[in-house]
Amino acid sequence: MKVSLRVRAGFAAGGAVSNVAKRFVKAIVLFGSPGSGKGTQAKLLTDCLGIPHVSTGEMLRDGIRQGRGVTPKTAAKMQAGILVKDAVVDAMVEERLSRPDAANGFVLDGYPRTLVQAEHLTGWLAERGIHEVVIHLAVDYNIIIARLTGRRECPRCGTLYNVVLRPPKVDELCDLDGEKLVRRDDDREDVIRARLEAYDRQTRPVLDFLRSNGGRVIEVDASNDPPEAVFQKIGRAMEN
Ligand SMILES: [Zn+2]
Repeated sequence: MKVSLRVRAGFAAGGAVSNVAKRFVKAIVLFGSPGSGKGTQAKLLTDCLGIPHVSTGEMLRDGIRQGRGVTPKTAAKMQAGILVKDAVVDAMVEERLSRPDAANGFVLDGYPRTLVQAEHLTGWLAERGIHEVVIHLAVDYNIIIARLTGRRECPRCGTLYNVVLRPPKVDELCDLDGEKLVRRDDDREDVIRARLEAYDRQTRPVLDFLRSNGGRVIEVDASNDPPEAVFQKIGRAMEN
């Protein structure tokens, strides 16, 4: 258990993730839009509940590194950014969830990504009498766009600034070396908007399916609050 004392105290204060929740919440399926801090929440959840973080992205990368489970063809596809076949991902996740460390629960991250995967997962869970809790970290797009488009980088030393949240002392110039700050290409508004919209298009039908299938879908607004506060919101929602 590596959760900071502050978070732990916060959890206790909010009555979040009580022993009851710890005993019964087995399968957590985590969704998060770009800019939602999904990685941080996954870590807080797994640390607090003592269950593994099952990230398909990480598993595929590991599989490629260790040359196991992932064929060279799949690896090549992944590197080209092509979606890997549902059956390949389903089998990989199933194998992972069958390991002893996942017997008391797990946090799924990056899966299910398609309707076919969602159907596969809910079938697998139902066969085992496991109820899933779906957590969706949603963000207000305008807030995320304002935050991300405000980012600036010093091309010389790499220091990051934000014109709103962490402005340089002199407009658009690096505090350390006076270099003119630049905006990275992937922080342009149209690029961010496209990423958010792609996320929405891909995730919405999966969330709708999980909801209609009787699963609990908890929507948590993660636009503005620091990670600890978002974590407490999740805890309180899981409690109800
Ligand atoms: Zn600099």
